[in-house]
Amino acid sequence: MTDYRRLRVALLGAGAVGSQVAALLLKHGAELADRAGASLELAGIAVRDLDAPRDVELPRELLTTDPEPLLVGADIVIELMGGIEPARTWLLQAINAGADVVTANKALLATHGPEIFEAADQVGAQVYYEAAAAGAIPIIRPLRDSLAGDRVRRIMGIVNGTTNYILDRMDREGAEFADVLADAQRLGYAEADPTADVEGYDAAQKAAILASLAFHTTVPLEAVHREGITAIDAQMIEDARHAGYVIKLLAVCERLEGAGEGGDAISVRVYPALVDRSHPLASVHGANNAVFVEAEAAGDLMFYGAGAGGVQTASAVLGDVVSAARRHIAGGLGVAESTRANLPIVTIGHVTTRYQITLEVDDRPGVLATVAGILSDGRVSIATLEQTVVGSSDAAGAVRPDEEGTARLVIGTHRAREQDLSETVQRLADSGVVERVVSVLRVEGD
Ligand code: NAP
Repeated sequence: MTDYRRLRVALLGAGAVGSQVAALLLKHGAELADRAGASLELAGIAVRDLDAPRDVELPRELLTTDPEPLLVGADIVIELMGGIEPARTWLLQAINAGADVVTANKALLATHGPEIFEAADQVGAQVYYEAAAAGAIPIIRPLRDSLAGDRVRRIMGIVNGTTNYILDRMDREGAEFADVLADAQRLGYAEADPTADVEGYDAAQKAAILASLAFHTTVPLEAVHREGITAIDAQMIEDARHAGYVIKLLAVCERLEGAGEGGDAISVRVYPALVDRSHPLASVHGANNAVFVEAEAAGDLMFYGAGAGGVQTASAVLGDVVSAARRHIAGGLGVAESTRANLPIVTIGHVTTRYQITLEVDDRPGVLATVAGILSDGRVSIATLEQTVVGSSDAAGAVRPDEEGTARLVIGTHRAREQDLSETVQRLADSGVVERVVSVLRVEGD
């Protein structure tokens, strides 16, 4: 057996991911040592409760409720506790003591990333976070290293498995949001409190991390426009299907050429959007994730796989641990996070996309002309228009109009500015001919 230099590894957290990381480190130690060029010695694992049930059995003597002694002299610290504190304090302590750190903590990086990267830069340490944006899917290294010679134009990510699972089942089964959510909670795909997932907070954290990397710009979480999926109902899914689309919760990070003063700007946003059924992202089913990257020279790339799961995420974490070990052995300074471009971040009002507007209107002469006039005055140009009568179907399938005489208009627009579009929709709502604005959805991916 090769006599490798020993590196002291401290693990903070032995939950869904941490317990798997510990088990794999112990099980595949010799193999990992050959790859890393160093022997990875697990010094201990900090937890809250020594007796808490674990997904895998771990040697009791490695567990401790006191992380301080573990951090002393550690070469690599792996943080898998989650949350902001005490994770932030312990990571900073580890960095300042000269350790390289590995974390999967998107909440921490999206809110305190600059502070942590700055601390690492000061001492020449490196922060690894492959698992923080899309679980097992390699996307951080591709953006940071493989595409370092290219220019990213746009990233569209399905980065939250829970919402993709819900929307996918609604699409397949025609079910309502609340029913699928309740089932997802029962099956363990959604948390008892699903807010972070269904309101888009988790996806927004990942969007901030991906956009910072892709555009070499510090993207604060507050700059990410966020909408969740709670307003999506079975009718909207059905209408989308009828028009050739599927609804996905997307994290969109986009370079807007010439939109900044004297240069480009970027937009970072999370919302449910219509995706053409022929787009690769439309075929991402269940709780899977995918990140679709459009680069200037490379063209379109898609990274697909498990966005969560203890053992799956442990794979990405261990990849980082091997990289950290190699760097530690090679010596030299870590590579600082590049935020040199520091592009301005525009608000959602400046974003341009296509839209699908669904309205219920009075079914009488002149209404269509009024609607078309309001859209045209608002600089929103119509690409497609479909009118159907609202009513009940008889046994033969023919629609009998309601007594009120209501028609449903589905308007597909050409690209329009969000600000123009929202003002125009307000004018439509106030026009007297629109009974109800049923939905306004953006179309992404073209
Ligand atoms: P988890 O199951 O909740 O485990 C958290 C672990 O940290 C537990 O072992 C807990 O100890 C320990 N811990 C928490 N607070 C502590 C404290 N103050 N002192 C000492 N130990 C403490 O979390 P997880 O799902 O493994 O996630 C870990 C990180 O990975 C999070 O940042 C998460 O966002 C990220 N991540 C998770 C997934 C996934 O699929 N789960 C995917 C991608 C990224 P006890 O066991 O004693 O309670």
